[in-house]
Amino acid sequence: MLLLFDIDLTLLTSGGAGEAALHLAGREVIGPSYSHEGLQVAGRLDRLIFADMLALNGVATDEATQERVRERYTHHLGEQLTLTDRKAALPGVHDVLASLRGRTDVVVGVLTGNYERSGRMKLDAVGIDASQFVVQAWCDFAPRVQPKRADLVDVAMRQCEQRTARRLRGKDVVVIGDTHHDVDCAKAHGCFSVGVATGRTSAAELAAAGADCVLESMADVGATLRAFGVA
Ligand SMILES: [Mg+2]
Repeated sequence: MLLLFDIDLTLLTSGGAGEAALHLAGREVIGPSYSHEGLQVAGRLDRLIFADMLALNGVATDEATQERVRERYTHHLGEQLTLTDRKAALPGVHDVLASLRGRTDVVVGVLTGNYERSGRMKLDAVGIDASQFVVQAWCDFAPRVQPKRADLVDVAMRQCEQRTARRLRGKDVVVIGDTHHDVDCAKAHGCFSVGVATGRTSAAELAAAGADCVLESMADVGATLRAFGVA
């Protein structure tokens, strides 16, 4: 079984550092007129968030400007993660990950809209060792043109197949996340979807989005492993 964890508001909260860094980067690249009114961030690929931020502010999204936003975002994220004392792994996350360590029947991975560099910074900041994720599907691996979160499920499945030399089917994969985007990308590949209501989407909304199973949090390790189908 391949378990794919989202990062933001599934494994951890950055304590507002992510959004603060995004807005500092936006103000720096776009100038004092910068506005984030209407900018959707939850569950989305960083590349799409940056593109929307530029478009909302009437700035052309060329590759150089994308890169500049990304570079400034990464810079500010490092500072903001140091400044905030509200960053934390979410309830049960350390224990759930510890309980999966050493299992030969389970491959653990991340599937996230973060670029690798900023995603690793967030994991490091809350004491989650990124090296435990055998499969790592970051925004870096999504296509540059019309990237979709579902593209990362493909990336993750191919990585897992290379590691295990075993063919994977959708039903061998569990996608775990806090938004309907996590649910949607699972369903696009016939994967099992576990919604965790530790973000801004309620358990009822995750169920309505089609999650196969919904948890309020991962605080109960036994119930979490049962939800993943790996108890
Ligand atoms: Mg999330």
